[in-house]
Amino acid sequence: MKAAVFQGAGQPLVVQSIDTPAVGAGEMLLKVKYCGVCGTDLHYTEEGTPVAPGAVIGHEFCGEVADVGPGVADHWKVGDRAVSMPFVGCGACASCLSGKPIWCRAMRTHATGQISGGFAEYTPIGATGSVKLPDGVSWEEAALIEPLAVGLHGVRRARLDAGANVLIVGAGPVALGVVVWAKVLGARRIVVTARSDRGAAMAVSLGATDFITGDKDVRREFRKVAGGLPDAVFECVGAPGVLEQCIALASIRGQVVVLGGCMRPDVVTPAAAMNKELNLVFSLAYDLYDFEVAVDRVARGVIDPSAMITDRVDLASFPDAFEALRQRTHQCKVLLSPGGRPR
Ligand SMILES: [Zn+2]
Ligand SMILES: [Zn+2]
Repeated sequence: MKAAVFQGAGQPLVVQSIDTPAVGAGEMLLKVKYCGVCGTDLHYTEEGTPVAPGAVIGHEFCGEVADVGPGVADHWKVGDRAVSMPFVGCGACASCLSGKPIWCRAMRTHATGQISGGFAEYTPIGATGSVKLPDGVSWEEAALIEPLAVGLHGVRRARLDAGANVLIVGAGPVALGVVVWAKVLGARRIVVTARSDRGAAMAVSLGATDFITGDKDVRREFRKVAGGLPDAVFECVGAPGVLEQCIALASIRGQVVVLGGCMRPDVVTPAAAMNKELNLVFSLAYDLYDFEVAVDRVARGVIDPSAMITDRVDLASFPDAFEALRQRTHQCKVLLSPGGRPR
């Protein structure tokens, strides 16, 4: 099969012919229709990456089942349309059986290329971590289930009350996923703040009620539109200093939900959080429930995330498109279609 193969930190991916991965017990082979590019992918191709040269990454994929491994229940057959969590566990422990393979001690992931990932014509997926796509979900929508599931998981971690006022810090795909679900789950003001207003139109089209650029006094502007400070602040940036800002912005007994993966040491003042009795919670990825709910809501037309897609590229132009994302860009979600544009 053809794949965009990782060569080493700081080097562009190269399209090469490699062996099509074998499917193990409990696994299926997915013919990839689309695989989205994530900030994590860029991060994992930089210095300090755990990805080995020769590996294939890409974890936001959807496609058609092309082969079924031993032990896969009758539930799946070749030709089924599927999305899948990019984690494959043992399939037998409590975490796996409850749809949370991310916590399985034997978990392997496409994200770091431990399992050959979605920047390729085929990728192996775990049967128990996969969800069938109803006809009502297009391939493009299916490619957005993973980022939507990230947002849903974060909003579930917040246990929002209907009518809550929320502030979302950041305007990338993770932030937009939070916007979508905050709206579905009945938030009142859904305010997005980001350094520039590049993402404003998209945030509003997906359900944000207000957008505040970072040069403004966010606290004062939020009060102006919501009548008080946010019940929940979602940190969707993952850079040093942002968490401290989120703590300062949250209301008394409000909460801060961290979805941004800051990889560097960061400083916060615990007393600032303590003085408000804040809840500080962290949100990592998703479980099967998040995937199922996201598929269901898209299939029923409750949410339409398609506006997040800003570009679609084939395998030949993918390495250049991928490198271009390292610079500040207007792109939101870029989709690779390794087998040509799906219909
Ligand atoms: Zn991702
Ligand atoms: Zn397990």
